[in-house]
Amino acid sequence: MKMSGWITIFCFSMLFLNCRVEEGNVNDTDMKLGDNIEVKKELSYDDYIKILKGMKPILPIKGSHITTSTGQLPNAPRKYRYGIHEGFDFYDGFCGVKIEKGTPVLAISNGKVIRADTNYKEIGAGKRKELLKEARQLGYTPETTLDILRGRQVWLEHSNGIITRYCHLSGISKEIKVDVQKGNILGFVGGSGTSSKTPHLHFEIRLGKDFLGKGKSPEEIKQLMDEIFKK
Ligand SMILES: [Zn+2]
Repeated sequence: MKMSGWITIFCFSMLFLNCRVEEGNVNDTDMKLGDNIEVKKELSYDDYIKILKGMKPILPIKGSHITTSTGQLPNAPRKYRYGIHEGFDFYDGFCGVKIEKGTPVLAISNGKVIRADTNYKEIGAGKRKELLKEARQLGYTPETTLDILRGRQVWLEHSNGIITRYCHLSGISKEIKVDVQKGNILGFVGGSGTSSKTPHLHFEIRLGKDFLGKGKSPEEIKQLMDEIFKK
């Protein structure tokens, strides 16, 4: 291989390493994840819900409640990219507390940081348009595009491989470590990855291959969230 090829590979490797948090071995699949459960395997939806309730989580924005708008819940259509919403949006005016650029985003429960985009670069309006055009042509949004549209992100892994994603962040907390406790600040509300002028948090709960709320009605989702996040 030519020298330029090796340099390219080296640069990409460094970029990849830079995107990972620096403390601890975040890729270690044997790591203990609380509750003395070490093995990650796909569970039933009901089992995931039971574990979630047992985590006694808090919502990621202090003092907030789940959005009052069904368009900001999982399963809401997202026509601009031929897809559906896979998480919960926390916008100012819908969640009971002031939400603006810089509002702290909290870990909902103890967990390990498996992703923190500390060196995030915005893709720009041109590239964004191109990706959305491609999604329209395909009739669905490819996972790589979805990831870009989520902007700057932090992902936490909890018991049994339950993962929470905190997206569109304006920044990542400097205090962030691999092990985080419930209520620790992970980052700050922003609009990264979006074309919107209104900053908000996009928050997802991943249960194995699915997301919390998949296939459920808005009423079912709200009731479930009330049960999981009861105060
Ligand atoms: Zn969203």
